[in-house]
Amino acid sequence: MGQPDAACYASFWGGFATLPQNYAPHAAQVTQALGTERGEAVMFLDDGSIYLNGKIVFVSLQRFRHKVCSGKVCFLCADENSEPTKEHVIPDWILRKYSLYNQSVTLTNGTRYKYKDYVVPCCWNCNQFLSKNFEKPISEVFEKGFEELKSYLISGEATRVFCWLALIFIKMHYKDNFLRMERDKRIVCGSIANDLEYDWGEMHHAYCLARSFFCDASIDYKALGSLGIFRIKLDSKEREQFDVGDITFSNTFGIRIGEVGLIACFGDGGAVLYKLNQLFLQKLHGPLNFPQFRELIAQFACCNLHLKNPPRLSTLTDKILGTVSIVCTKRDPEPIFYEFKPEILGSLMTTLLYSLMKNNVNIPDFEMRLKQGEVSFLFGNDGNFLNNE
Ligand SMILES: [Zn+2]
Repeated sequence: MGQPDAACYASFWGGFATLPQNYAPHAAQVTQALGTERGEAVMFLDDGSIYLNGKIVFVSLQRFRHKVCSGKVCFLCADENSEPTKEHVIPDWILRKYSLYNQSVTLTNGTRYKYKDYVVPCCWNCNQFLSKNFEKPISEVFEKGFEELKSYLISGEATRVFCWLALIFIKMHYKDNFLRMERDKRIVCGSIANDLEYDWGEMHHAYCLARSFFCDASIDYKALGSLGIFRIKLDSKEREQFDVGDITFSNTFGIRIGEVGLIACFGDGGAVLYKLNQLFLQKLHGPLNFPQFRELIAQFACCNLHLKNPPRLSTLTDKILGTVSIVCTKRDPEPIFYEFKPEILGSLMTTLLYSLMKNNVNIPDFEMRLKQGEVSFLFGNDGNFLNNE
């Protein structure tokens, strides 16, 4: 059995447990300009964006919706003068490491798309920036395995990793602006993002996090959200050691790379981790297999959907100092959750697991029971963790 959390799990930003005074109300993106004007490098653009020291440090929701999501500008700098080339949605080092170029990702509409073509518009400078600040340092730590990554997070690099996850999450959804809902060209349809009615207001915070290194923003760690790292069981029979699962409407994202699984909720102020720690995370005392990791993504997403009082998240710009900060403010001392609805978990579990597991399980009425939230790969009927070591 061993220590409950040492072997496979570490948590960050269970903010409510230790810092409830910093918790805050309903999610809304607010921009304020502080200080008196010195005037040299600050410009307020017509769409509410803020230009400071040669770059757009705050991309307003309007600009995000109409300029960035239309693909006319580089998705990172959002500058009209940018000359976008291409940036892989799933980082190039991951595609190389697991020979994924000719494999396919499953899109939100259930269709498949080749990883090698899964790219977004990004200018050369921004591409280099992302490589230097995210892909290079993070890939080097991943190369060294789970323990090294855990130490990396604990040593103060959790913000970098969290913003990197926000970046991939945003790129995946942003790309859906340019992919047809229906592959059959004879069918009249819009983009996946349009037809599934993505809420860009809800995703704007993750976008701001993804850009935070680019605009040198300081981030209140509670403005990040929940992050868990889990050890994944390596299985020689596996087709690939890479997996990605996201739940659009609950701002939840999970990625598995080798023996490391990371799950993030964006903008919940740490509420999800706080709650799941109380419920069961400490019981996970062994490495997770594929369906267990996917179930955990569903649990994070489900918990976020049940959160009644998410925090208020703001981007503040100080014109004098030329700084940007992303902060989280308080409404209630404790997170409050709606009464648990098992069918919500069931619906998320079905999305993440049904088609991949239907031929691999021996569970009567699997589809129906999965939908009703009655199937668990993590815990047995006695509530104990199903250790697969
Ligand atoms: Zn750019």
